[in-house]
Amino acid sequence: MLDIQKIRADFPILSEKVNGKPLVYFDNGATSQKPQVVIDAIATYYQEINANIHRGVHTLSQLATDAYEISRVKIQHHINAKFSHEVLFTSGTTHGINLVANGFASILKPGDEILVSALEHHSNIVPWQMLCEKTGAILKVIPINEEGELIMETFDALLSEKTKVVTVNHISNALGIINPIKYMIEKAHAVGAAVLIDGAQAVPHLKPDVQDLDCDFYAFSGHKMCGPTGTGILYGKEEWLNKLPPYQGGGEMIKEVTFEKTTYADLPHKFEAGTPNIAGGIVLGTAVDYLNHIGFHNIQKQEEKLLEHATKRLLEIDGLKIYGTGKNKASVVSFNIDGIHPYDVGSIIDKLGIAVRTGHHCAQPIMNFFCIPGTIRASFSFYNTIEEIDTMVEAVKKAKTMLS
Ligand SMILES: *Cc1c(COP(=O)(O)O)cnc(C)c1O
Repeated sequence: MLDIQKIRADFPILSEKVNGKPLVYFDNGATSQKPQVVIDAIATYYQEINANIHRGVHTLSQLATDAYEISRVKIQHHINAKFSHEVLFTSGTTHGINLVANGFASILKPGDEILVSALEHHSNIVPWQMLCEKTGAILKVIPINEEGELIMETFDALLSEKTKVVTVNHISNALGIINPIKYMIEKAHAVGAAVLIDGAQAVPHLKPDVQDLDCDFYAFSGHKMCGPTGTGILYGKEEWLNKLPPYQGGGEMIKEVTFEKTTYADLPHKFEAGTPNIAGGIVLGTAVDYLNHIGFHNIQKQEEKLLEHATKRLLEIDGLKIYGTGKNKASVVSFNIDGIHPYDVGSIIDKLGIAVRTGHHCAQPIMNFFCIPGTIRASFSFYNTIEEIDTMVEAVKKAKTMLS
């Protein structure tokens, strides 16, 4: 079993007070808190090896380059990519998805189809809509049922030879539902479609195995998995990354530049134009080490406990409804109280030191499906405790009394 108090001591912010109350941080779905090793590693980079990478022959440049490339290999092993050049550093999930969608502009023809799921974050909807506008491709949506689960019969029926891309999140940010992506990838491949998995909400909870999943792309952000903001990874299968054109032009991504013709650098550099977030990329490796040190098995056990307790306790409240009641769930509880606006509950419990997200969670189509303006979302991390959940439940009860 994890020693939660010892783990909490790794995160300086968790002992802060907010509005005079001990912070209860349940907005992990928006961004996770950072352990001291990650915070320290940022300072160490700037204090000891700061230099631009892949450029100079000087010692510091080589040290920075080595640290950056070691981090890439670390992440390669973490997600079990076949090659390190299939691991691209990005600024986050949004960047990764846009890179892929932009690349497909040169591949898709009018009438080709892109399947997105009804559970997507806006950043896995809008880039594909932009791509459709550019190419004449058609966006089709895999619907959800009342439990917030994707309807697989409809997905199967939507697939055809016209389907060129299927894009779906591993875990829904708004509801916490875990999607049957392995099944979906297999089905999509059977009609020759490429599959992008938005793993932003999955990587804090589990270790994805991209070869076992057999996905073509897997995008995620560093900041939701204890890493720095402005960092992320796009995994792409070598053959796809070779097929797609570069996303941005600039330094680092070329072999040779003349005004007549420029040839592009090999992978991964072809997709990494300009000076990247060097410190961030290196420290993302530190965050991955930290999570592996705790162990994903332990993380999942703790989070399952939190999810179960929160679900049970919240349902004690009269008129409270949980959205996303499917069986396969990560540690996220999205809920509303009858007749009360989620924002009002969020504001009152904030005064009591409790941080939850209220609103549409960048997933308006889901809110439209349930005919609600938004939800209150409590998203838990392994460093959260049962006592914190009890504190939240009491606060929600108090808010309900005040507002009804
Ligand atoms: C957070 C999130 C994103 C966007 O991530 P950024 O870090 O803002 O680029 C995309 N998809 C899902 C499911 C998310 O939770």
